[in-house]
Amino acid sequence: MTIIASNFKTNHTRKSTALFIEKLNNYLLQNSIKNEVFVFPTSTSLDKFNTISNLQIGVQNAYATSSGSFTGEIGTFQLNEFEIKTILIGHSERRHILSETQSQIAKKYEFYKSLGYKIIYCIGEPLEVKKQGLEKTLEYIYEQFDGIDTNYENLILAYEPVWAIGTGVTATNDDIKNVHTAIKKKINKPLLYGGSVKVENVKEICEIENVDGALIGTASWVIEDFIQIIENTK
Ligand code: 13P
Repeated sequence: MTIIASNFKTNHTRKSTALFIEKLNNYLLQNSIKNEVFVFPTSTSLDKFNTISNLQIGVQNAYATSSGSFTGEIGTFQLNEFEIKTILIGHSERRHILSETQSQIAKKYEFYKSLGYKIIYCIGEPLEVKKQGLEKTLEYIYEQFDGIDTNYENLILAYEPVWAIGTGVTATNDDIKNVHTAIKKKINKPLLYGGSVKVENVKEICEIENVDGALIGTASWVIEDFIQIIENTK
């Protein structure tokens, strides 16, 4: 079974998100697809979507709290309103653009783990590390597991090399295979690849050894393309 996840990042309105989910639901209802499908809309577009069983809605980020004084953040008090039980943690944009530290990430992970959330946990190296070879790349990635209980039953991993995100430069099949095989040996959890996955390359990527699916940004934002991505991997 292939896992296909769409990360909207800072895109779509409430209206266009609702339409996206409606079209996706219709497609999933009319086609018996085995894929597990996730959509991560913006927090402003969360809703009690009437999803069917293999479609799950998650939040791109939330704070490690129920409620309180954390200006700009949301917690489980808000997420519960939408019956959200899935969260992305450790995304490279949060690590590198929003400067989240490994200890903040680990704290967040522990909090959402304790509540039984399904966690898609992201790891991946920047270009300067990739240039130093596989060994250094793995060393860097393993540090991103500091403070993370990898035995957690509701854990899905996503390997997203920073240099491949939103750049149009996909990692080579060999790069993906080498990193995925090494991670899988250490942590036996579903492992997605992310970074310039497109309609045209998703099938090939999902067929690589130890790749269990894809986490997709840009190429997933148009519903027709996202449906084609699911079609290509069903
Ligand atoms: P792109 O598919 O746009 O490269 O983004 C990948 C990503 O960051 C998904 O979380």
